[in-house]
Amino acid sequence: MINPVNYTGPRRQRYVANARSRKAQHPGQIYDSSIRRWIQEPPRVTVVLLTCKLAHAEAEEVLYGCNTFSFQTNTRLTKFLTSFDGPTNLIRTLKVDDYIIATAQPFWQALIPLVNLRKVSMGHYGFCRNRGRTQGPTSSLLVRQMTPLLKVLKCSYSKQGLTINPADVLEIFNTECESCSCGCGKLDRKEYCNCKYDEQRSVPKQQELFEAHRASLRDAVADMKP
Ligand SMILES: [Zn+2]
Ligand SMILES: [Zn+2]
Repeated sequence: MINPVNYTGPRRQRYVANARSRKAQHPGQIYDSSIRRWIQEPPRVTVVLLTCKLAHAEAEEVLYGCNTFSFQTNTRLTKFLTSFDGPTNLIRTLKVDDYIIATAQPFWQALIPLVNLRKVSMGHYGFCRNRGRTQGPTSSLLVRQMTPLLKVLKCSYSKQGLTINPADVLEIFNTECESCSCGCGKLDRKEYCNCKYDEQRSVPKQQELFEAHRASLRDAVADMKP
């Protein structure tokens, strides 16, 4: 229940919707007792944002902080962030299915304003080192591209008294990677490989790669001057 308050203090009952002020014959409407008429019910989510500055700030924190912002590629996420003028600093969780290495540099740059970022989960495929033609990044390239963001997060976390490691912001989730399940040895010539996806083979390789990257990122964070 939302109780907007007038500037003078008393509660403004007009937009308070309760069960008794609704009727099936008036869908989407509420009864306004002050004018004795059925009026259009104001949209409830935006009402929270409009009540007052404090409620607006709190609702915004929940909206941006508790939701996962999901994108197909890092390229799209970069476009979103560079054109979005909302409070990006409140965003905590991002998900990217396909990591495109060609646009990785501007992507990591675009994340720098996200000082409260806790997790960016990305699919393994774009990181895979077993792919013949377009391999994923080496750990050292990843460290180089992520360092400006990691510095910002390290500073932000320590100011807030958080003990989480900024290196753990990156999470690479397993995907059905045929390159990692290949057993024919034609890894450098995938076009001739007919291996089917084999989870037993693929998952440990994907996990190993993620752990190698995470170890390098943790080393880089440990080496940063406070
Ligand atoms: Zn792979
Ligand atoms: Zn194969």
